[in-house]
Amino acid sequence: MAASPKAKVLLVEDDPDVTELVRNHLTRSNYRVDAVDSAEQALLRLRRSPPDLIILDVGLPKMDGLEFLRRLRPADGPPVILLSARRDEVDRVLGLKLGADDYVVKPFSARELEARVDVVLRRGAGAKTGAAARFGALELDLERHEVRVSGRPVALRPKEFAILRLLVGADGKVLSRAQLLERVWGYPPELKMDPRQVDQYIARIRRRLGAERRRIVTVSAAGYRFSERA
Ligand code: CA
Repeated sequence: MAASPKAKVLLVEDDPDVTELVRNHLTRSNYRVDAVDSAEQALLRLRRSPPDLIILDVGLPKMDGLEFLRRLRPADGPPVILLSARRDEVDRVLGLKLGADDYVVKPFSARELEARVDVVLRRGAGAKTGAAARFGALELDLERHEVRVSGRPVALRPKEFAILRLLVGADGKVLSRAQLLERVWGYPPELKMDPRQVDQYIARIRRRLGAERRRIVTVSAAGYRFSERA
């Protein structure tokens, strides 16, 4: 798969071996890679020249990756892929709650990481088609990627918007977690992402929709559907 040419990746990693592996691989695939070894350096770098994507090690000296995420407020910034040495559910869930877009457990292959980088960047550049749709107080402007509830803008990140758009576009049919994973994350099945990650995103979309949250219906043992009648 061709990488987005010249997309700029900021790699925040204190392990020089991992830095070298990622830098070499992504550079060969036509990415521009800027590497720093601490969150403090990353914050400085972000101010000077914002990247298209951040690859962030969780276990960093002094300020760790999760604290960095908290400061970064990813809803406003570039997408973030977390790297962690631990198969630690808490890190993963917390990282996603803090707004990370994906999570890769060490040791990982450079090809796997690149596949995820491609997906996250593609998603950010998402196809813009269609027009506005309205359901009660909920309004979706598919062209501008905007969502409003009672006229007030709702801040959804690209992947959250993509999930909502798929559900709305499914004509009331149930979409399984696996279907959402495949269509929103674009994952080849061999990457084995945890389908429960979808639940985290649904929970966040619901929180942001406030009074209109009930339109996203959980269908037991099947998945989710969108209800036009609240
Ligand atoms: Ca580390």
